[in-house]
Amino acid sequence: MIVVMQKDASQEHIQHMVERVEKLGLKSHVINGTERTVIAAIGEKREYTRESLESGPGVAEVVPILAPYKVASREVKPEPTQIQVGSLTVGAGTLGVIAGPCSVESETQIIETAKAVKAAGATGLRGGAFKPRTSPYSFQGLKEQGLKFLAAAREETGLAIVTEVVSTDDVELVSRYADVLQIGARNMQNYRLLEAVGNTNSTILLKRGASATIEELLLAAEYILNEGNPQVMLCERGIRTFESHTRFTLPLASVAYLQNKTHLPVVIDPSHGTGHTYLVPSMAAAAVAAGADGLILEVHPDPECALSDGYQTLDFTQFEETMDRCRKVAAALEVNL
Ligand code: PEP
Ligand code: MN
Repeated sequence: MIVVMQKDASQEHIQHMVERVEKLGLKSHVINGTERTVIAAIGEKREYTRESLESGPGVAEVVPILAPYKVASREVKPEPTQIQVGSLTVGAGTLGVIAGPCSVESETQIIETAKAVKAAGATGLRGGAFKPRTSPYSFQGLKEQGLKFLAAAREETGLAIVTEVVSTDDVELVSRYADVLQIGARNMQNYRLLEAVGNTNSTILLKRGASATIEELLLAAEYILNEGNPQVMLCERGIRTFESHTRFTLPLASVAYLQNKTHLPVVIDPSHGTGHTYLVPSMAAAAVAAGADGLILEVHPDPECALSDGYQTLDFTQFEETMDRCRKVAAALEVNL
């Protein structure tokens, strides 16, 4: 249920209602909107819960949340959420561009890339230190050494760091270095991991599982929000279909659909979404046209020699060209980029 407070409700009224919600055995999430404050009351409701809350001081109305995901839903928070972490702003009229290699390979590689993508307009740096690879024989990432190289790149350029965490055991370690913890497609339904990152102060980039429905993605986000971490971005990175021309199928309708259902920002990953470098610039521009709040793009100084995902990675020149193209689309839509 949502306890919608009156426009002029005082802090005391809000606090009072939070306590009442919790006394009823429900979890409370206070969402401060521009217009008014609402309190999402989550959990099994008992008889007369609604009536009991409705009579509280400063309460305008109590309405049920129809969606199965609650805190993530637009019903609870009609205005879009903007993520702001270091150099990276995503959503509510600002397009964030996170760029960098699939894997951190060396200090020179990541710093060189950070400088190049920053010069071209990226606002966040991605790079995998813990890699979830399909084959156990593929490069698994530099682990903590990779995180140190990412921290050095942030030191050098000021770019916010986005990197994946693959296990609950590593959450504390990765959050010490990263600004944004990426939950990869393979772990979207690793509920213990979602709860663990929900208990950090880090921003989370949650990628859609290759076989997950949008509702499952939103319920996965709900696991994080339910632990009290409101800093969540969703990422459409393509799904598995019968089509084999592309590595995955990238459904850009997800942008508009998700923005209708949730206030959380939506980031598009055209690199994994297509699996081919030559398709990335067009799909990045198309994502911007569709209203995406952010892009995450794989960029490497020498994609041919990359230790992972080189075939879908842009070199520096291709990244610059992609940014130029996206900027034109963003300008037409009056979106900051
Ligand atoms: C990645 O970002 O390099 C990655 C492994 O992505 P995904 O989880 O979408 O496959
Ligand atoms: Mn990759």
